Amino acid sequence: MPNDKEHNKVSVLIVGAGPAGLAAAIQLKTIKPQLDVCVVEKGADLGNHNLSGAVLEAEPLHTLLDSAVPGWEDSDAAKDVLASKIDKDNIMFLLGKKLSFNIFFAVKLAKIFHLGFGQMLHKGDYSVSISKLTKWMGQIAKELGAEVLTGFAAEDIILDESSDKATGVKLVDQGLDKEGNKQPNFVEGEVIEADFVVLAEGCDGLVTEKFIEKANLQRKSNQLYSLGVKELIKVSPEQYNKFTSGRVVHAMGYPIWTPVIGPGMFGGGIVYAGVQEHISVGMIVGADWKYCDFNVQDALTNFKNHRFVKKFIDGGTVVEAGAKMIPEGGFYAIPREPETGSIGKGNCVILGDSAGFVNMLKIKGLHNAIDSGIQAAEAIAETIDNPERAAVRYTELVDRSNIAREMYSARNFRQTVAKFGPLQGMPLSVFGGLLPKFKVEEDYEAMTIAPYRLKPNQNFDKDTFTAMAATGHREEQPSHLTILDSDICKTKCTPIFNSPCITFCPAGVYETIHDEVKPANPSNCLHCKTCQRKCPFDNIRWTVPEGGGGPRYKRM
Ligand SMILES: Cc1cc2nc3c(=O)[nH]c(=O)nc-3n(C[C@H](O)[C@H](O)[C@H](O)COP(=O)(O)OP(=O)(O)OC[C@H]3O[C@@H](n4cnc5c(N)ncnc54)[C@H](O)[C@@H]3O)c2cc1C
Repeated sequence: MPNDKEHNKVSVLIVGAGPAGLAAAIQLKTIKPQLDVCVVEKGADLGNHNLSGAVLEAEPLHTLLDSAVPGWEDSDAAKDVLASKIDKDNIMFLLGKKLSFNIFFAVKLAKIFHLGFGQMLHKGDYSVSISKLTKWMGQIAKELGAEVLTGFAAEDIILDESSDKATGVKLVDQGLDKEGNKQPNFVEGEVIEADFVVLAEGCDGLVTEKFIEKANLQRKSNQLYSLGVKELIKVSPEQYNKFTSGRVVHAMGYPIWTPVIGPGMFGGGIVYAGVQEHISVGMIVGADWKYCDFNVQDALTNFKNHRFVKKFIDGGTVVEAGAKMIPEGGFYAIPREPETGSIGKGNCVILGDSAGFVNMLKIKGLHNAIDSGIQAAEAIAETIDNPERAAVRYTELVDRSNIAREMYSARNFRQTVAKFGPLQGMPLSVFGGLLPKFKVEEDYEAMTIAPYRLKPNQNFDKDTFTAMAATGHREEQPSHLTILDSDICKTKCTPIFNSPCITFCPAGVYETIHDEVKPANPSNCLHCKTCQRKCPFDNIRWTVPEGGGGPRYKRM
């Protein structure tokens, strides 16, 4: 528990030990070592709930560590986390199950003509494990004196009613049974009070979204999401050498988009070289897909079977797997205080994916997450005596940083594709800044009765997938997944769409039991939260379970 044990009070409370939250903790302890900084993280261990590609643009990390830990490059941890520098960068277009075209020249041309797509270059970046990166950053934060508490989930933010000032955060109760009754081991979730609250919960943060509502922050455009599923595969030395270390491949087209004849979904596949003969293979699909029987894992199966990918991974062993959402709405979906435009309010600031700082022209958010942590720390340090100015100052610093430049440059991209579909939207988005801000529907509203034509022959094996994510929760606790109105499932969703949550949930949480759709296996949940964003009737809510539950990623 935080430093001041009697009062549970800290100077700065950070919710979420991802790259954003930990960067804030490291920078704060570097520039204001006397401040007590506490980070709460719902995962049982650092890195357990962090899943990413992950191509890392390392400049913000270098900036952070250069001042925090001089000589950091020589540490064993740095050499381990940053072992894979990218020296081969491919962008492929896949057509059907067999054909592939390297379209890297198009990105290079776009770069020459200063078009948005020209940002999609990765040479000189690192291919990292975000779990390892997070663990390393957490260790540094602890060594600098921050208190990093794993297994502690936050469920709400407490605001002072008269001033709207955030006074602290309430943690999740532990030790309730399935019906919500207190068990002998019951521990009430404490309130940690703080002078500053930093929300760094990643995509679709529960506390963040509650804060946005309570503090009346506004988004100019709906937040859009995508779901990414990923496997880490140990391949043979021959396959690894054929793929080559230091190589990353981004693929468009099959199996989620074929021009004119369809399907027509936004996203693509990734194949990244890791270390020690491991290759990451993933599929990221915009959650505005319209096919009611679509599951991103089916697309991953097809992608793995494409001739271009198969030769590198066939016969390999999946050693880890997982799923997570990405916020894709970009610049216009950043939640802001209407009067000041601040990203947060008063003494509460919003960072990283919780704010939506993913540059969709690169599908990268790690560097912005770390940068936002740095800016938040600077803002807090400057407003120590005036905490209610923190969010305004943070936003000024973000606006002057590379985060704002990038987010602005990509401002219309995702909305244009959402509005017109990949075929027209992709070429149209070249006109980026010249286009108006298109109004787009929420992802869940896009669902139709159309089927996904490229269903693989075999159902994806979700049990093996969740086993590879090593996910689990204490069984005797209230379900953290709620179907708001089961009548809607029975009378509308099942007859019209055939209960898509059963198909699209990557962890197989939902099942039909005695003719009723239920979150029957909450213990399998991977915390991706796709269900609450893709249920076609907006009829599912995800809340944070007891701390310590969920996936246990080690190398994602
Ligand atoms: C499949 C996929 C591929 C990607 N590829 C890339 C890439 O190649 N390059 C790139 O730059 N970016 C990539 N991204 C995006 C990148 O991963 C994110 O932008 C980045 O992780 C954001 O960092 P964050 O700290 O804001 O959030 P996160 O990394 O999500 O960390 C948030 C932390 O907060 C914790 N938390 C959440 N809620 C609570 C709570 N209520 N209480 C306590 N703890 C809580 C979570 O457990 C988690 O540890 C990818 C994302 C995905 C899903």
